[in-house]
Amino acid sequence: IIQVRHLSKSFGTHVVLRDVDFTVNAGDVTCVIGASGSGKSTLLRCINLLETPTNGNVLFHGQEITAKGFDPCAYRAKVGMVFQSFNLFNNMSVLDNCTAGLRYVLHQDKETARRTALANLEKVGMAPYIHAKPRQLSGGQKQRVAIARALSMQPEVLLFDEPTSALDPQMVGEVLAVMRQLAKDGLTMIVVTHEMAFARDVSSHVVYMADGVIAEEGTPADIFEHPQNPRTVEFLSRFR
Ligand code: ATP
Ligand code: MG
Repeated sequence: IIQVRHLSKSFGTHVVLRDVDFTVNAGDVTCVIGASGSGKSTLLRCINLLETPTNGNVLFHGQEITAKGFDPCAYRAKVGMVFQSFNLFNNMSVLDNCTAGLRYVLHQDKETARRTALANLEKVGMAPYIHAKPRQLSGGQKQRVAIARALSMQPEVLLFDEPTSALDPQMVGEVLAVMRQLAKDGLTMIVVTHEMAFARDVSSHVVYMADGVIAEEGTPADIFEHPQNPRTVEFLSRFR
């Protein structure tokens, strides 16, 4: 569904991604792990067209998303993103946060948008809070609303950039539980995370990044039980 081919990204002379290649098939849960600064966020941002690759390309259903004439709006509706810092609209209610994209990007009528949003807020356990404003919610609740908002667009792929890193420890679990359920439901996900237990238990594929390259990738068993690259071994030892 997504192919990343020879992707490179530089900021000035600083090479952040170097010849990154990987494929995501429908239903895959791909976890991207690696040290701070290894290029994980930049990789997601290139996939979501928030950054323009310096070299290489990203294909969605075989179509090059950086090609001239490709509509980034339609694409962003199909490939959603959940950020570390939630990025909710703070002056809007929980419900309006979830209907805004449906109404103003997908041009759905109010009632259709409301039904979709409610179903997704239900799924993440936030239906009782539809009239609340984000500031009245805990971090874990805000992130669950952000997930419901992303799901409401009915994406084919959902990207997560360290969705639990800004949360107090007691709230990490509730967000991971929602993500586990989405994985079970068969949603295609690319998840940048430092939650190694989640990566080990939930992912179908693990990508370990170091200094802008994929240093190693494989199944969770390959990466967590039989890492081949000494850098992977060293990185994982920090979590034991
Ligand atoms: P973290 O785990 O801390 O989130 P990361 O793996 O997500 O790290 P990136 O955010 O992708 O890493 O950053 C990789 C490198 O690219 C860093 O050295 C960062 O300073 C640099 N970088 C990222 N965005 C920009 C930008 N817009 N301009 C210049 N340099 C950037
Ligand atoms: Mg990052």
